[in-house]
Amino acid sequence: MRKTDVIIVGAGPAGSWLGFRLAQAGIESVILEKEKFPRYKACGGGLSQKTIEFLPFSFDKIAEPQMAGAWISYGHRQVLVNRFGPAGAMVMRDTFDAFLIERYLSAGGQCFDGQRVSSVEETSDGIRATAGSEIWHGKILVGADGTYSFVRRACAFEPHRDLLFALAAEMKVTDGVRSALGDYACFDLDAIPYGYGWIFPKRNHFSIGVFTSDHRFRLREQLKRFCRSHPLLRGGEIFRMRGSALPVGGYPRLVQRDHVLLVGDAAGMVEPFLGEGIYNALLSADLAADAIIDHLNQNKTLSVYPERLNRMIDANIVRARRLAKVFYGHLPWTFPLLVQNRVIARAFAREVIGKSDFGAFLRYSLKRLPFIPFGYRGGISKREAFSSAFVPSNPDSEEA
Ligand SMILES: Cc1cc2nc3c(=O)[nH]c(=O)nc-3n(C[C@H](O)[C@H](O)[C@H](O)COP(=O)(O)OP(=O)(O)OC[C@H]3O[C@@H](n4cnc5c(N)ncnc54)[C@H](O)[C@@H]3O)c2cc1C
Repeated sequence: MRKTDVIIVGAGPAGSWLGFRLAQAGIESVILEKEKFPRYKACGGGLSQKTIEFLPFSFDKIAEPQMAGAWISYGHRQVLVNRFGPAGAMVMRDTFDAFLIERYLSAGGQCFDGQRVSSVEETSDGIRATAGSEIWHGKILVGADGTYSFVRRACAFEPHRDLLFALAAEMKVTDGVRSALGDYACFDLDAIPYGYGWIFPKRNHFSIGVFTSDHRFRLREQLKRFCRSHPLLRGGEIFRMRGSALPVGGYPRLVQRDHVLLVGDAAGMVEPFLGEGIYNALLSADLAADAIIDHLNQNKTLSVYPERLNRMIDANIVRARRLAKVFYGHLPWTFPLLVQNRVIARAFAREVIGKSDFGAFLRYSLKRLPFIPFGYRGGISKREAFSSAFVPSNPDSEEA
């Protein structure tokens, strides 16, 4: 049997950031990962600016383009939301996750890939986990093993109650089509009800996909429809397609029991308006790291973790869920009010880049709603937008 202080199951962003923080504090840990790294992960690979600023690393070597802003379209009108500073960056998840694991290893951590954790047992002085032919004993075990978390099930945490759905694909496009999108993301609200279709530019191709909160839609059909209807996607060649549920928190639930904690998707941390999960995965891992460090060094209780998580993440998820319900459920009203209005769109962009939160955005928007003219129609058509090759100074485009 091999011994360590903390066993971390899963080498996604939550697991590797948690391990990195522990290693920096001089606490020994091991990450056990079922896949051989680097592994493909179904994901748009969009990192918001707040995610980039959260991590103390330079992403220059692995970032695909830096994001300058986004096109948002509905009813064949497109609005360009930019001019709020850098919006984020694009990555491929195999490279990004491998990069984070490298940082953890350089800080003194140990990671074993190709090792699926298949059993977890409490002992009198901690917890035991079996991965392949190895048995590990630790004082604490952390489930960072994603949406379908084994640790969540094995340690009798309740199943996720609130799920969103997304299907991601990679698409080869011609150089001309790739350069027409430039360094902008596209969010298309016509692509699927109660969600959006996305086009994220990568160095030589597009990551595309559909995201919805409504389980009744067949995502493959919706993605095909999106590819047929969007001028940038017609004629592109899909070379990979994979989907997953995205677990959302924001309701009372256990994320820590005795010596077991859940972080990231295993705990249900996805923000329900955009479906962004990496930022909250990192933030939850950070809060878990603080709790574990204080527990092991000063014998403080681990229950501070759920308390802080509730205050710092779940409260924002609750507001984002409310906004998502209103926004996606009433697009004929909410698109002109919230997207085609440059002041409100800029306020929303501030949330995405991490300069405010959903609470601040909602308060700000509600105060201004009475002054927003109904029937206002800014923006340009998709065809115009892409043939003008995204020149932001186009006088018809609504720049926030
Ligand atoms: C289609 C799609 C698109 C998305 N796009 C974006 C986006 O653009 N931006 C964004 O911020 N978020 C996006 N998300 C959400 C984001 O991918 C997740 O929120 C994020 O990956 C969560 O990180 P994590 O570390 O908690 O889990 P994961 O990244 O899922 O990592 C969990 C790890 O645990 C491993 N594992 C699982 N079971 C075991 C086991 N029994 N033993 C050992 N290892 C195990 C897995 O192999 C995996 O490597 C998207 C999600 C989907 C499905």
